Amino acid sequence: MCPLALGMLILAGMPSRAGAPPASAKDAPSRPAAAAGVAAAPDAAPPALPVPLAPDPSQARAEALIAEALKVPTAYERLRPLTDTIGARLAGSTNEPRAVAWAKAEFEKDGLRAHLEPVMVPVWVRGKEHAEILEPGPMPLVMLGLGGSVGTPAEGLTASVVVVGSFDELTALGESRVRGKIVVFDHPFVRTGNEFKDYGEAVKYRGDGPSAAAKLGAVAVLVRSVATASLRTPHTGGFGYDAAYPRIPAASITAEDAMLLHRLARAGHDVKVRLFMEAHTEPDRPGSNVVTEIRGRKNPREIVLIGAHLDSWDVGQGAIDDGAGVAMVLETMRLLASGPPPRRTVRAVLFANEENGTKGAKAYRDAHAEELAGHVAAIEADSGAARALGVSLTAGSGGVDLLRALLTPLLAPLGAARFTGEGGGADVGHLKKAAVPMLSIENDGTRYFDYHHTMADTLDKIDPEALQQATATLAATTWVLAESPKLLPRLSPEEAAKE
Ligand code: ZN
Ligand code: ZN
Repeated sequence: MCPLALGMLILAGMPSRAGAPPASAKDAPSRPAAAAGVAAAPDAAPPALPVPLAPDPSQARAEALIAEALKVPTAYERLRPLTDTIGARLAGSTNEPRAVAWAKAEFEKDGLRAHLEPVMVPVWVRGKEHAEILEPGPMPLVMLGLGGSVGTPAEGLTASVVVVGSFDELTALGESRVRGKIVVFDHPFVRTGNEFKDYGEAVKYRGDGPSAAAKLGAVAVLVRSVATASLRTPHTGGFGYDAAYPRIPAASITAEDAMLLHRLARAGHDVKVRLFMEAHTEPDRPGSNVVTEIRGRKNPREIVLIGAHLDSWDVGQGAIDDGAGVAMVLETMRLLASGPPPRRTVRAVLFANEENGTKGAKAYRDAHAEELAGHVAAIEADSGAARALGVSLTAGSGGVDLLRALLTPLLAPLGAARFTGEGGGADVGHLKKAAVPMLSIENDGTRYFDYHHTMADTLDKIDPEALQQATATLAATTWVLAESPKLLPRLSPEEAAKE
Protein backbone atom coordinates (compact mmCIF):
# COMPACT_ATOMS: atom_id res chain seq x y z
CA MET A 1 0.00 0.00 0.00
CA CYS A 2 1.44 3.35 -0.96
CA PRO A 3 1.57 5.97 1.77
CA LEU A 4 -0.96 8.25 0.08
CA ALA A 5 -3.55 5.54 -0.15
CA LEU A 6 -2.99 4.85 3.51
CA GLY A 7 -3.80 8.45 4.31
CA MET A 8 -7.01 8.36 2.30
CA LEU A 9 -8.47 5.50 4.22
CA ILE A 10 -7.41 6.24 7.74
CA LEU A 11 -9.93 5.07 10.27
CA ALA A 12 -12.69 4.98 7.70
CA GLY A 13 -13.54 1.41 8.36
CA MET A 14 -13.30 0.78 12.07
CA PRO A 15 -16.07 -1.78 12.31
CA SER A 16 -17.54 -0.66 15.60
CA ARG A 17 -18.11 2.89 14.49
CA ALA A 18 -18.64 2.52 10.76
CA GLY A 19 -22.14 3.95 10.82
CA ALA A 20 -21.38 7.04 12.87
CA PRO A 21 -22.24 10.41 11.38
CA PRO A 22 -19.47 12.57 9.93
CA ALA A 23 -17.78 14.96 12.30
CA SER A 24 -15.50 17.87 11.66
CA ALA A 25 -12.02 17.91 13.07
CA LYS A 26 -12.83 20.72 15.46
CA ASP A 27 -15.69 18.69 16.87
CA ALA A 28 -13.31 16.05 18.07
CA PRO A 29 -12.81 17.07 21.69
CA SER A 30 -16.50 17.57 22.44
CA ARG A 31 -17.82 14.72 20.32
CA PRO A 32 -15.28 12.01 20.91
CA ALA A 33 -17.63 9.12 20.23
CA ALA A 34 -17.96 10.18 16.63
CA ALA A 35 -14.24 10.56 16.22
CA ALA A 36 -13.34 6.95 15.84
CA GLY A 37 -15.64 6.05 13.07
CA VAL A 38 -15.24 8.70 10.47
CA ALA A 39 -12.36 10.25 8.72
CA ALA A 40 -12.58 13.98 9.20
CA ALA A 41 -9.60 15.38 7.35
CA PRO A 42 -10.11 16.64 3.79
CA ASP A 43 -8.25 13.66 2.37
CA ALA A 44 -10.59 11.10 3.90
CA ALA A 45 -13.82 9.92 2.33
CA PRO A 46 -16.85 9.20 4.52
CA PRO A 47 -17.78 5.55 4.61
CA ALA A 48 -20.35 4.60 2.01
CA LEU A 49 -21.31 1.38 3.70
CA PRO A 50 -21.61 0.35 7.33
CA VAL A 51 -18.97 -2.31 6.65
CA PRO A 52 -16.10 -1.36 4.35
CA LEU A 53 -15.53 -3.41 1.23
CA ALA A 54 -11.82 -3.54 1.87
CA PRO A 55 -10.08 -3.56 5.24
CA ASP A 56 -8.94 -0.15 6.48
CA PRO A 57 -5.20 -0.10 5.76
CA SER A 58 -4.40 2.04 8.79
CA GLN A 59 -6.18 -0.38 11.07
CA ALA A 60 -4.61 -3.28 9.21
CA ARG A 61 -1.16 -1.75 9.67
CA ALA A 62 -1.77 -1.28 13.40
CA GLU A 63 -2.94 -4.87 13.65
CA ALA A 64 0.14 -6.05 11.78
CA LEU A 65 2.36 -4.12 14.21
CA ILE A 66 0.61 -5.80 17.13
CA ALA A 67 0.90 -9.24 15.53
CA GLU A 68 4.60 -8.74 14.85
CA ALA A 69 5.24 -7.44 18.38
CA LEU A 70 3.55 -10.53 19.85
CA LYS A 71 5.33 -13.01 17.62
CA VAL A 72 8.76 -13.47 19.16
CA PRO A 73 10.30 -12.24 22.42
CA THR A 74 12.48 -9.65 20.68
CA ALA A 75 11.97 -6.96 23.30
CA TYR A 76 13.19 -9.27 26.06
CA GLU A 77 16.12 -10.50 23.97
CA ARG A 78 17.32 -7.00 23.18
CA LEU A 79 16.99 -5.99 26.84
CA ARG A 80 19.31 -8.82 27.89
CA PRO A 81 22.64 -7.12 27.05
CA LEU A 82 21.56 -3.87 28.69
CA THR A 83 20.84 -5.64 31.97
CA ASP A 84 23.29 -8.55 31.94
CA THR A 85 26.40 -7.01 30.39
CA ILE A 86 25.97 -3.32 31.25
CA GLY A 87 23.76 -3.45 34.34
CA ALA A 88 23.15 -0.54 36.67
CA ARG A 89 23.74 2.80 34.92
CA LEU A 90 23.27 5.77 37.18
CA ALA A 91 23.81 9.16 35.57
CA GLY A 92 27.45 10.15 35.72
CA SER A 93 28.64 6.58 36.34
CA THR A 94 31.09 4.74 34.10
CA ASN A 95 28.24 2.54 32.89
CA GLU A 96 26.21 5.46 31.59
CA PRO A 97 28.26 6.01 28.38
CA ARG A 98 28.28 2.23 27.79
CA ALA A 99 24.49 2.22 27.88
CA VAL A 100 24.35 5.25 25.58
CA ALA A 101 26.63 3.60 23.01
CA TRP A 102 24.61 0.39 23.20
CA ALA A 103 21.27 2.19 22.69
CA LYS A 104 22.54 4.18 19.71
CA ALA A 105 23.89 1.01 18.11
CA GLU A 106 20.56 -0.76 18.72
CA PHE A 107 18.67 1.91 16.78
CA GLU A 108 21.26 1.80 14.02
CA LYS A 109 20.99 -1.97 13.79
CA ASP A 110 17.38 -1.43 12.78
CA GLY A 111 18.38 0.97 10.01
CA LEU A 112 17.56 4.15 11.94
CA ARG A 113 19.88 7.12 12.17
CA ALA A 114 20.39 7.92 15.83
CA HIS A 115 22.26 10.80 17.42
CA LEU A 116 23.27 11.92 20.89
CA GLU A 117 22.12 15.18 22.45
CA PRO A 118 24.30 16.59 25.23
CA VAL A 119 23.13 16.82 28.83
CA MET A 120 25.09 17.80 31.92
CA VAL A 121 24.16 15.28 34.61
CA PRO A 122 24.70 15.20 38.37
CA VAL A 123 27.20 12.72 39.76
CA TRP A 124 26.17 11.14 43.04
CA VAL A 125 28.43 8.45 44.46
CA ARG A 126 27.14 6.03 47.09
CA GLY A 127 30.42 4.76 48.49
CA LYS A 128 30.45 2.35 51.40
CA GLU A 129 27.56 2.42 53.82
CA HIS A 130 26.11 0.49 56.71
CA ALA A 131 23.89 0.91 59.74
CA GLU A 132 23.39 -1.04 62.92
CA ILE A 133 21.48 -0.98 66.17
CA LEU A 134 23.86 -0.60 69.11
CA GLU A 135 21.30 -0.59 71.93
CA PRO A 136 19.30 -2.36 73.32
CA GLY A 137 21.38 -5.06 71.60
CA PRO A 138 23.70 -5.06 68.59
CA MET A 139 21.90 -5.92 65.38
CA PRO A 140 22.57 -5.02 61.75
CA LEU A 141 20.12 -2.88 59.77
CA VAL A 142 19.74 -3.45 56.04
CA MET A 143 19.90 -0.06 54.32
CA LEU A 144 20.52 1.84 51.11
CA GLY A 145 21.45 5.50 51.15
CA LEU A 146 18.96 7.67 49.30
CA GLY A 147 20.19 9.15 46.04
CA GLY A 148 21.59 12.65 46.53
CA SER A 149 22.20 12.19 50.26
CA VAL A 150 25.22 13.64 51.96
CA GLY A 151 27.44 11.25 53.87
CA THR A 152 28.05 10.97 57.58
CA PRO A 153 31.25 12.16 59.27
CA ALA A 154 34.13 9.77 58.51
CA GLU A 155 33.73 8.04 61.87
CA GLY A 156 29.98 7.60 61.33
CA LEU A 157 27.18 9.00 63.41
CA THR A 158 25.56 7.52 66.51
CA ALA A 159 22.31 8.77 68.02
CA SER A 160 19.05 7.70 69.62
CA VAL A 161 16.11 7.26 67.29
CA VAL A 162 12.59 8.62 67.33
CA VAL A 163 10.11 6.64 65.25
CA VAL A 164 7.08 8.29 63.63
CA GLY A 165 4.41 7.02 61.27
CA SER A 166 3.53 10.36 59.71
CA PHE A 167 4.50 14.00 59.39
CA ASP A 168 1.79 14.83 61.92
CA GLU A 169 3.45 12.60 64.49
CA LEU A 170 6.78 14.26 63.78
CA THR A 171 5.29 17.71 64.23
CA ALA A 172 3.61 16.61 67.47
CA LEU A 173 6.99 15.53 68.88
CA GLY A 174 8.37 19.01 68.32
CA GLU A 175 11.96 20.21 68.26
CA SER A 176 12.65 19.34 71.92
CA ARG A 177 12.22 15.60 71.28
CA VAL A 178 13.76 15.49 67.80
CA ARG A 179 16.91 17.59 68.11
CA GLY A 180 20.05 15.46 67.99
CA LYS A 181 18.10 12.30 67.10
CA ILE A 182 17.83 10.05 64.06
CA VAL A 183 14.25 10.26 62.80
CA VAL A 184 12.78 6.99 61.50
CA PHE A 185 9.71 7.26 59.25
CA ASP A 186 7.76 4.00 59.45
CA HIS A 187 4.98 4.71 56.98
CA PRO A 188 3.69 1.63 55.14
CA PHE A 189 2.76 1.40 51.48
CA VAL A 190 -1.05 1.08 51.49
CA ARG A 191 -2.62 -0.59 48.45
CA THR A 192 -5.90 0.84 47.23
CA GLY A 193 -6.01 -0.82 43.82
CA ASN A 194 -3.65 1.43 41.85
CA GLU A 195 -0.06 0.93 42.94
CA PHE A 196 1.26 3.89 40.96
CA LYS A 197 -1.12 6.23 42.80
CA ASP A 198 -0.42 4.54 46.12
CA TYR A 199 3.29 5.05 45.53
CA GLY A 200 2.67 8.78 45.22
CA GLU A 201 1.17 8.80 48.71
CA ALA A 202 3.86 6.68 50.38
CA VAL A 203 6.85 8.29 48.68
CA LYS A 204 6.26 11.64 50.40
CA TYR A 205 8.25 10.43 53.38
CA ARG A 206 11.25 9.67 51.19
CA GLY A 207 10.87 12.90 49.24
CA ASP A 208 10.16 15.35 52.06
CA GLY A 209 11.18 13.42 55.17
CA PRO A 210 14.86 14.41 55.31
CA SER A 211 14.24 18.15 55.40
CA ALA A 212 11.14 17.84 57.60
CA ALA A 213 13.34 16.11 60.18
CA ALA A 214 16.26 18.49 59.71
CA LYS A 215 13.91 21.39 60.34
CA LEU A 216 13.42 20.06 63.89
CA GLY A 217 17.12 19.46 64.47
CA ALA A 218 17.43 15.76 63.54
CA VAL A 219 20.93 14.53 62.65
CA ALA A 220 19.89 11.83 60.14
CA VAL A 221 16.82 10.16 58.67
CA LEU A 222 15.93 6.52 58.04
CA VAL A 223 12.89 5.99 55.82
CA ARG A 224 10.93 2.76 55.51
CA SER A 225 11.34 1.53 51.94
CA VAL A 226 8.47 2.42 49.63
CA ALA A 227 7.60 -1.14 48.73
CA THR A 228 4.69 -3.53 48.22
CA ALA A 229 6.66 -6.53 49.42
CA SER A 230 9.82 -7.10 51.36
CA LEU A 231 12.23 -9.93 51.91
CA ARG A 232 14.27 -7.48 53.98
CA THR A 233 15.23 -5.66 50.79
CA PRO A 234 15.82 -1.91 50.93
CA HIS A 235 14.57 0.36 48.10
CA THR A 236 16.55 3.47 47.23
CA GLY A 237 15.24 6.53 45.41
CA GLY A 238 15.67 10.25 45.07
CA PHE A 239 14.64 13.19 47.21
CA GLY A 240 15.39 16.89 47.43
CA TYR A 241 16.89 18.89 50.27
CA ASP A 242 15.05 22.06 51.22
CA ALA A 243 17.72 24.77 51.07
CA ALA A 244 16.32 26.35 54.24
CA TYR A 245 17.49 23.49 56.49
CA PRO A 246 20.74 21.57 57.10
CA ARG A 247 21.50 18.67 54.74
CA ILE A 248 21.46 15.54 56.87
CA PRO A 249 22.27 11.95 55.80
CA ALA A 250 19.22 10.05 54.57
CA ALA A 251 18.85 6.34 53.95
CA SER A 252 16.13 3.81 53.31
CA ILE A 253 15.79 0.81 55.58
CA THR A 254 13.77 -2.34 54.99
CA ALA A 255 10.14 -2.58 56.05
CA GLU A 256 11.18 -5.27 58.55
CA ASP A 257 13.82 -3.04 60.14
CA ALA A 258 11.48 -0.04 60.28
CA MET A 259 8.92 -2.16 62.12
CA LEU A 260 11.62 -3.53 64.43
CA LEU A 261 12.76 -0.02 65.39
CA HIS A 262 9.13 0.97 65.89
CA ARG A 263 8.48 -1.99 68.20
CA LEU A 264 11.59 -1.28 70.26
CA ALA A 265 10.67 2.40 70.63
CA ARG A 266 7.10 1.57 71.59
CA ALA A 267 8.40 -0.85 74.20
CA GLY A 268 10.20 2.06 75.82
CA HIS A 269 13.80 1.31 74.81
CA ASP A 270 16.27 4.08 74.15
CA VAL A 271 17.27 2.71 70.74
CA LYS A 272 20.74 3.78 69.64
CA VAL A 273 21.71 3.44 65.99
CA ARG A 274 25.02 3.95 64.24
CA LEU A 275 24.97 5.11 60.60
CA PHE A 276 27.95 5.26 58.26
CA MET A 277 27.68 6.65 54.71
CA GLU A 278 30.42 7.79 52.35
CA ALA A 279 27.84 9.28 49.95
CA HIS A 280 28.84 12.46 48.18
CA THR A 281 28.18 14.51 45.06
CA GLU A 282 30.87 15.34 42.50
CA PRO A 283 30.78 18.05 39.82
CA ASP A 284 28.33 17.49 36.93
CA ARG A 285 29.57 15.47 33.96
CA PRO A 286 28.47 15.30 30.32
CA GLY A 287 25.82 12.70 29.55
CA SER A 288 23.53 12.12 26.58
CA ASN A 289 19.97 11.65 25.44
CA VAL A 290 19.79 9.12 22.60
CA VAL A 291 17.45 10.31 19.86
CA THR A 292 16.14 8.90 16.60
CA GLU A 293 13.10 9.49 14.44
CA ILE A 294 11.00 8.27 11.56
CA ARG A 295 10.08 11.28 9.49
CA GLY A 296 6.38 11.72 8.82
CA ARG A 297 5.38 11.22 5.21
CA LYS A 298 2.79 14.00 5.22
CA ASN A 299 3.08 16.25 8.30
CA PRO A 300 6.72 15.84 9.32
CA ARG A 301 6.64 18.85 11.63
CA GLU A 302 3.98 17.21 13.76
CA ILE A 303 5.82 14.98 16.21
CA VAL A 304 4.70 12.05 18.33
CA LEU A 305 7.42 11.56 20.94
CA ILE A 306 7.93 8.21 22.62
CA GLY A 307 10.33 8.04 25.52
CA ALA A 308 11.84 5.93 28.27
CA HIS A 309 14.82 6.55 30.50
CA LEU A 310 18.13 4.90 29.86
CA ASP A 311 19.59 5.57 33.30
CA SER A 312 18.83 3.50 36.39
CA TRP A 313 19.75 3.56 40.04
CA ASP A 314 23.15 2.18 40.98
CA VAL A 315 21.73 -1.04 42.41
CA GLY A 316 20.26 -4.02 40.56
CA GLN A 317 20.17 -4.00 36.76
CA GLY A 318 17.47 -1.43 36.06
CA ALA A 319 15.46 -4.15 34.33
CA ILE A 320 11.90 -3.14 35.16
CA ASP A 321 12.97 0.48 35.81
CA ASP A 322 13.42 1.32 33.06
CA GLY A 323 15.19 -1.20 30.84
CA ALA A 324 11.73 -2.50 29.98
CA GLY A 325 10.62 0.91 28.73
CA VAL A 326 13.84 1.24 26.71
CA ALA A 327 13.19 -2.15 25.07
CA MET A 328 9.59 -1.17 24.31
CA VAL A 329 10.73 2.05 22.63
CA LEU A 330 13.50 0.33 20.64
CA GLU A 331 11.08 -2.34 19.46
CA THR A 332 8.35 0.15 18.58
CA MET A 333 10.80 2.03 16.38
CA ARG A 334 11.97 -1.19 14.73
CA LEU A 335 8.39 -2.20 14.02
CA LEU A 336 7.42 1.22 12.66
CA ALA A 337 10.55 1.37 10.49
CA SER A 338 9.66 -1.94 8.89
CA GLY A 339 6.77 -0.45 6.88
CA PRO A 340 5.58 2.78 5.29
CA PRO A 341 6.07 5.79 7.55
CA PRO A 342 3.07 7.28 9.33
CA ARG A 343 1.60 10.68 8.48
CA ARG A 344 3.50 12.39 11.31
CA THR A 345 7.04 12.10 12.60
CA VAL A 346 7.66 9.61 15.38
CA ARG A 347 10.63 10.57 17.52
CA ALA A 348 12.14 8.29 20.15
CA VAL A 349 14.10 9.74 23.05
CA LEU A 350 15.97 7.63 25.57
CA PHE A 351 16.38 10.14 28.34
CA ALA A 352 19.40 10.59 30.59
CA ASN A 353 19.15 11.05 34.35
CA GLU A 354 15.45 10.49 35.03
CA GLU A 355 16.18 8.99 38.43
CA ASN A 356 18.03 11.82 40.09
CA GLY A 357 17.38 15.06 38.31
CA THR A 358 15.51 14.60 34.97
CA LYS A 359 18.29 16.67 33.43
CA GLY A 360 17.84 14.75 30.16
CA ALA A 361 14.20 15.77 29.85
CA LYS A 362 15.00 19.37 30.71
CA ALA A 363 17.79 19.44 28.12
CA TYR A 364 15.44 18.01 25.48
CA ARG A 365 12.77 20.58 26.32
CA ASP A 366 15.27 23.43 26.05
CA ALA A 367 17.03 22.19 22.90
CA HIS A 368 13.71 21.65 21.09
CA ALA A 369 11.82 24.66 22.45
CA GLU A 370 10.91 25.87 18.97
CA GLU A 371 9.46 22.50 18.00
CA LEU A 372 7.29 21.94 21.06
CA ALA A 373 4.17 23.50 19.53
CA GLY A 374 4.45 20.74 16.93
CA HIS A 375 4.64 17.96 19.52
CA VAL A 376 1.15 16.48 19.21
CA ALA A 377 1.69 13.76 21.83
CA ALA A 378 4.42 12.53 24.16
CA ILE A 379 4.23 8.97 25.46
CA GLU A 380 6.33 7.70 28.36
CA ALA A 381 7.07 4.02 28.96
CA ASP A 382 8.24 3.89 32.58
CA SER A 383 5.92 1.67 34.56
CA GLY A 384 7.60 -1.68 34.26
CA ALA A 385 7.50 -4.79 32.14
CA ALA A 386 4.20 -6.35 33.20
CA ARG A 387 1.21 -6.57 30.86
CA ALA A 388 -0.19 -3.23 29.78
CA LEU A 389 -3.69 -2.64 31.12
CA GLY A 390 -4.28 0.57 29.23
CA VAL A 391 -3.09 4.02 28.32
CA SER A 392 -3.41 7.18 30.40
CA LEU A 393 -3.59 10.67 29.02
CA THR A 394 -3.32 14.21 30.27
CA ALA A 395 -4.74 16.46 27.56
CA GLY A 396 -7.41 19.04 26.89
CA SER A 397 -11.11 18.46 27.40
CA GLY A 398 -12.42 15.33 25.67
CA GLY A 399 -8.96 13.88 25.10
CA VAL A 400 -9.47 10.64 27.00
CA ASP A 401 -12.75 9.96 25.17
CA LEU A 402 -11.07 10.54 21.83
CA LEU A 403 -8.18 8.26 22.78
CA ARG A 404 -10.63 5.57 23.87
CA ALA A 405 -12.50 5.81 20.59
CA LEU A 406 -9.29 5.64 18.55
CA LEU A 407 -7.64 2.78 20.40
CA THR A 408 -10.32 0.49 21.81
CA PRO A 409 -10.69 -1.62 18.65
CA LEU A 410 -6.93 -2.31 18.68
CA LEU A 411 -6.21 -2.58 22.37
CA ALA A 412 -9.31 -4.41 23.62
CA PRO A 413 -8.11 -7.73 22.16
CA LEU A 414 -4.83 -7.17 24.06
CA GLY A 415 -6.66 -6.53 27.32
CA ALA A 416 -5.18 -3.03 27.31
CA ALA A 417 -8.23 -0.87 26.68
CA ARG A 418 -8.39 0.95 30.02
CA PHE A 419 -8.15 4.69 29.40
CA THR A 420 -7.74 7.15 32.23
CA GLY A 421 -6.57 10.70 32.87
CA GLU A 422 -3.28 11.69 34.49
CA GLY A 423 -0.98 10.29 31.86
CA GLY A 424 2.62 11.28 31.30
CA GLY A 425 5.65 10.75 33.50
CA ALA A 426 8.70 12.35 35.02
CA ASP A 427 10.37 12.96 31.65
CA VAL A 428 7.55 13.94 29.30
CA GLY A 429 6.08 15.94 32.17
CA HIS A 430 8.63 18.62 31.29
CA LEU A 431 6.67 19.26 28.08
CA LYS A 432 3.52 20.12 30.01
CA LYS A 433 4.10 23.87 29.99
CA ALA A 434 4.08 23.66 26.18
CA ALA A 435 0.55 22.14 26.44
CA VAL A 436 1.69 18.85 24.86
CA PRO A 437 -0.78 15.97 25.42
CA MET A 438 1.08 13.51 27.67
CA LEU A 439 0.48 9.78 27.75
CA SER A 440 1.78 6.79 29.62
CA ILE A 441 1.55 3.09 29.03
CA GLU A 442 -0.08 1.68 32.17
CA ASN A 443 1.49 -1.64 33.02
CA ASP A 444 0.01 -3.85 35.71
CA GLY A 445 1.58 -2.51 38.92
CA THR A 446 0.82 -5.49 41.16
CA ARG A 447 4.48 -6.55 41.51
CA TYR A 448 6.31 -3.44 40.28
CA PHE A 449 7.00 -1.96 43.71
CA ASP A 450 8.21 -5.32 45.03
CA TYR A 451 11.44 -4.76 43.06
CA HIS A 452 11.52 -1.06 42.16
CA HIS A 453 14.87 0.61 43.00
CA THR A 454 16.35 -2.51 44.61
CA MET A 455 19.20 -4.95 44.10
CA ALA A 456 16.44 -7.33 42.93
CA ASP A 457 15.44 -5.30 39.86
CA THR A 458 17.00 -7.86 37.53
CA LEU A 459 16.07 -9.40 34.19
CA ASP A 460 14.61 -12.57 35.72
CA LYS A 461 11.69 -10.49 37.02
CA ILE A 462 10.52 -9.91 33.45
CA ASP A 463 8.03 -12.15 31.71
CA PRO A 464 8.95 -12.02 28.00
CA GLU A 465 5.33 -12.46 26.90
CA ALA A 466 4.05 -9.67 29.10
CA LEU A 467 6.77 -7.38 27.76
CA GLN A 468 5.72 -8.24 24.20
CA GLN A 469 2.11 -7.38 24.98
CA ALA A 470 3.19 -4.05 26.51
CA THR A 471 5.35 -3.39 23.44
CA ALA A 472 2.40 -4.15 21.16
CA THR A 473 0.35 -1.63 23.14
CA LEU A 474 2.99 1.07 22.74
CA ALA A 475 3.49 0.33 19.04
CA ALA A 476 -0.23 0.46 18.25
CA THR A 477 -0.76 3.62 20.30
CA THR A 478 2.17 5.32 18.62
CA TRP A 479 1.00 4.34 15.15
CA VAL A 480 -2.54 5.57 15.71
CA LEU A 481 -1.44 8.92 17.15
CA ALA A 482 1.00 9.39 14.29
CA GLU A 483 -1.50 8.36 11.63
CA SER A 484 -4.99 9.40 12.72
CA PRO A 485 -6.45 12.53 11.08
CA LYS A 486 -7.59 13.48 14.58
CA LEU A 487 -5.28 15.23 17.00
CA LEU A 488 -5.54 14.96 20.75
CA PRO A 489 -6.66 18.27 22.27
CA ARG A 490 -3.78 20.20 23.81
CA LEU A 491 -3.83 21.22 27.45
CA SER A 492 -5.61 24.45 28.28
CA PRO A 493 -3.32 27.30 29.36
CA GLU A 494 -4.56 26.86 32.96
CA GLU A 495 -3.80 23.12 32.97
CA ALA A 496 -0.43 23.65 31.29
CA ALA A 497 0.57 26.19 33.92
CA LYS A 498 -0.22 23.86 36.85
CA GLU A 499 2.81 22.47 38.66
ZN1 ZN B 1 11.68 4.94 35.99
ZN1 ZN C 1 12.98 4.84 39.11
